[in-house]
Parts: sequence; structure tokens; C-alpha cells
Amino acid sequence: MLATHPSIRSCLGGTLLPAAPLQPRSGELASLCLVNPAKGHTMEIDGSCHCGDIRYKAEVNPDNVIICHCTDCQTLSGGAFRTAVPAVEGTFVLLSGAPKRYVKTGESGNKREQAFCGNCGTHLYSAPPGLASRVVALRVGSIRQRDQLVPKDQYWCRSSQKWLQGLSSIKRTEKQPVFDPKGGFGSSAID
Ligand SMILES: [Zn+2]
Ligand SMILES: [Zn+2]
Repeated sequence: MLATHPSIRSCLGGTLLPAAPLQPRSGELASLCLVNPAKGHTMEIDGSCHCGDIRYKAEVNPDNVIICHCTDCQTLSGGAFRTAVPAVEGTFVLLSGAPKRYVKTGESGNKREQAFCGNCGTHLYSAPPGLASRVVALRVGSIRQRDQLVPKDQYWCRSSQKWLQGLSSIKRTEKQPVFDPKGGFGSSAID
């Protein structure tokens, strides 16, 4: 039943955007659903890569933040999972720099452009290839206001790292241990 699907609900609850700059192509309805949140339920954000060459701004709906546990996200991020939030359609603006792009093919066969800084390697967003950033999924770690963007859903849990279930029980250090000059992690903590 359509009404039970969260993305459909957000479509019905939102205002359809008039006259998009590019007309949707077939198969893009799901993307349109993600970018029609009710006005007032969005927030302005800005972000940058680590070296600062690339800066952007956009509007996002905090309810659309997700965690992705797919193996592509694990490899591309170098981490256990990735967090992402779609920019509201037409609000993503590159303020400086030009990201490099890598096109990956997912299990579904869909191609997805991965944009990152060619200088420092920070992952910035993904988008359908060739749509000129019309609908982008921002990497939450590159957003300055990331503390306010709490994930609401998790995808591809079948490949999630099992140790995440017990994350809160793993030993914690406020900063990091002193690095061993010969490599590896030391045992004593930095103040
Ligand atoms: Zn950079
Ligand atoms: Zn993923």
C-alpha cells in the first residue's frame, strides 16, 4: 500500500515543486519523492572538503538522513558505513572548487556518480550521472551542521558490520592514544 511507504508519505505531505529546471526522466520518481518535503521542515546547511578547496550550500530535510551499510559505501568511505542526506531539489550550490567524479555501478545496474575532492579525497555527494547536480545525496560528514543531522533509517543492513551492534561497549578515549613513531597506535592517551 503506497501510503505506508515513508518516502511516499513525505511526497504526499509536501508541496510538489513547480517547473523543475530539468524535466524528470523515466525511473526518477523515487528521487523526486525525496526532494518534496513540506516547506519549513528543511534547514539550510553548508559544507566543505577537508582542504577547503570545495565548498557548497544546500537545504535538507533532517528527517531524510540515512545510514548506508552497503559494501560500496564501506569501501568508498574507508569506514564501517556512510551517512547521507538528499539536498532539496534545486537548492544545492557549489560555492567553490570543482569535484572529481567517479561513476560506480550498483547491484541494481544503476550508475551513480560519486563526487569527491581531487586534492584531499573528501567524499562530498553522489548523484545520477549527467544530471548536473539536480538531485544530490550529500555525505553528512562533510556538512558543517552534521551534529543536527541524526539518521532516521538504515539501508543495506544485510552487509552491516556485526560489531556495530556492540559499539557502545567498545573502550572509549576522548581523543586518541599517542602514536608510536614506528607506526601503529600507542597505549597511553593524549591529555
Ligand atoms: Zn579538498
Ligand atoms: Zn551505500
